[in-house]
Amino acid sequence: MELREIGEFGLIARIREKTPLPPPGLIRGIGDDAAISLITPGTQLVSTVDLLVEGVHFDLSFTSPLLLGRKSLAVNLSDIAAMGAKPSYALISLAVPPQTKVEFLDDFISGFLEMAEANGVSLIGGDTSSSPERLFIGVTLLGEGKKGELIWRSGAQPGDDLYVTGTLGDALLGLYLARKRKGIAISPAEAYLLDRHFNPTPRVQEGRSLGEKGLARAMIDLSDGLFSDLRHICEESKVGATVWVEQIPQSEPFRSLAPGYQLPTWRSALQGGEDYELLFSASPQRAAEIRQLARDWKCGLTCIGKIEPVSAGIAIRDERGPVDSTFLKGYDHFANP
Ligand code: ADP
Ligand code: MG
Repeated sequence: MELREIGEFGLIARIREKTPLPPPGLIRGIGDDAAISLITPGTQLVSTVDLLVEGVHFDLSFTSPLLLGRKSLAVNLSDIAAMGAKPSYALISLAVPPQTKVEFLDDFISGFLEMAEANGVSLIGGDTSSSPERLFIGVTLLGEGKKGELIWRSGAQPGDDLYVTGTLGDALLGLYLARKRKGIAISPAEAYLLDRHFNPTPRVQEGRSLGEKGLARAMIDLSDGLFSDLRHICEESKVGATVWVEQIPQSEPFRSLAPGYQLPTWRSALQGGEDYELLFSASPQRAAEIRQLARDWKCGLTCIGKIEPVSAGIAIRDERGPVDSTFLKGYDHFANP
């Protein structure tokens, strides 16, 4: 069945039917002109939106609708996590070609709602439009955090340790694999890397616990690549940084398969986007507390460098000394071919 057969209101009704019972704080959800929710006294509202465009962010020839639904919320959850906040409410804007299959949209919504439920998020509304050719997915996510617990990009100080969760480069290699194999894995290592690209895990609990305990001074999520996202922290905080390339955490599947793609491993780990890990800086005095906290994190945590005075710039070093990083760049929608 195609979307044109059920129409805009048919689609909204299907989405509404699948949406679980509203949480206590939600007064009006899908079905009114706007949603109404209670505000937790003493908290600050945290809001983010991300747009996913067919042909730019995803390719329907090798993306499953369920994973696309999961990822379209995951990328927003990652931004909320990077603020040290707790996610709460989501809105979806969809622009859909009329010949899109209803089953595709059902699976998309199922994936979205799975990711929402796993992270304590309720879908409270959205907007629906037709699109002549391509699918557009805009997700707005609201969250909250206590005053003083939210973590900005601008708080890093020279002398801070620089940490990253998980492993880097997996999502980039997963994308290479997806293009080559049309998304079908032929080994567990390939399956792992494809999953890291198509089904990223936002570090929501990790980010929030850093906020609650006041352990991080600056934080960002890695969507465009370590090199590019670190530069955002440095610019906002008016600091420099050193990254030790040998310390950058890499997964076993990444190490074993990257050479086959002529991907220099450390360079991919520095430049590869979409890992959705957290990068943060913290005072060295909090190092023991951070280690203790991270013991419960399945994704792991690695110290990869230091924050330096602004005059030092951003230096990438290996054991022999500085590495030429002038050619490194992250993903830029208008600069990349
Ligand atoms: P309006 O014309 O006032 O924008 P709509 O008919 O677009 O109202 O929306 C009706 C209700 O359905 C609203 O509560 C809106 O938030 C919700 N809604 C519309 N599209 C979506 C969607 N794609 N996902 C979730 N809720 C949606
Ligand atoms: Mg509308």
